[in-house]
Amino acid sequence: MERANIKETNLSFGSLYKRDSTDMVVLHHTGGNDIDASAEQIHGWHLNNGWAGIGYHFVIRKDGTIERGRPEWAVGSHACGENNHTIGIHLSGDFSQAKPTTEQIEKCAMLIANLSADYGFPIDREHVLGHGELMATDCPGANLQTLLDDGTITGKANWYRYGAVEQEESAPKMLPEEKIWRFLKGKGLNDYAAAGLMGNLYAESGLSSTNLENYYECKLGMSDDEYTRAVDSGEYQNFVYDRAGYGLAQWTYYNRKAGLLEYARAKGKSVGDLDIQLEFLWQELQMNQYLLEKLANAGSVQDASNTVLFDFERPADQSEAVQSIREKYAQDYYDDFALTNKMLLEDDEMRYNNVNEVPEWARPTIQKMIDKGLLGGIGGKDKLDLTLEMIRVFVINDRAGLY
Ligand SMILES: [Zn+2]
Repeated sequence: MERANIKETNLSFGSLYKRDSTDMVVLHHTGGNDIDASAEQIHGWHLNNGWAGIGYHFVIRKDGTIERGRPEWAVGSHACGENNHTIGIHLSGDFSQAKPTTEQIEKCAMLIANLSADYGFPIDREHVLGHGELMATDCPGANLQTLLDDGTITGKANWYRYGAVEQEESAPKMLPEEKIWRFLKGKGLNDYAAAGLMGNLYAESGLSSTNLENYYECKLGMSDDEYTRAVDSGEYQNFVYDRAGYGLAQWTYYNRKAGLLEYARAKGKSVGDLDIQLEFLWQELQMNQYLLEKLANAGSVQDASNTVLFDFERPADQSEAVQSIREKYAQDYYDDFALTNKMLLEDDEMRYNNVNEVPEWARPTIQKMIDKGLLGGIGGKDKLDLTLEMIRVFVINDRAGLY
């Protein structure tokens, strides 16, 4: 979330008291005259009232500058009877005649988003109010009150707080393994081939499309994300020739990395974008008809997994131990997707009642939730009553750090 910049004003106050709690923001205007009042100016007025100093915690000037008023921790003097649990934001101007500026509206929304996150209250009309909703006053002026009533301010504040997440949520929620499975099936691969390919990709990258080979994370001093950003921005120029394994298939050789980079740039996407890498991977596979034919004729998961190992990934180590690890990964995907999908087709009301019935990719999450008492009655592991959809949402939330 973007944080609003607060301009310090270093005003001197009389006695202040610590606020007990904070669950509401109250908006005000200057009123009377449409002037661009500063925090210092208002401080003077309120001192003249015999108050400890400016009663609002923030003053938003017409150019969008947010000035510090009363310290954020202190009980304000802006909403009689409600000061003990509220933060007062003053927007400079008289909004019974003029309108708040675009800059004021945006910064007000951003500040509300920040405060709601800091104090843990929701951004809605029970927690973001105009002064006149608490007592009989024209403040904060009809033109600002309208922006509260029509949802403009709370809508923007919610966007500042959750925007990025909501954008992701509007796309269908999908785990990388589901996305990859569907992609490969969509290209016409059979279940053995799709699982065999995924098992190998998992062994290469853990199915993380921004995965940078660990050795190079140390050598280059960059994390997966830092490397990805530096390549995308052009700040790091040696992507093609650095021999660092990268992405879903841990592309390493210069011609393959050059191909991936060129493909991503041509599409205007990040080199670490999963969809881009899947499309590029598919192009590479198309150039290897021998491999595709062998995959099409694979009679088992083991068959398909070894075909990918020997004829596509060709890692330095192709020992039996490596073969069996990759085959195991592949078998897990086969069980999770090929079999789960079949079960779902037979019964879309399928319920998962204990952790051992849950698909393997979701087991750590479900187990963690049981251990934390978030699922499964009082310590009981049975009767979870989960649908696959619920399980997917839990795993996505878990990966986002919610549990
Ligand atoms: Zn007011």
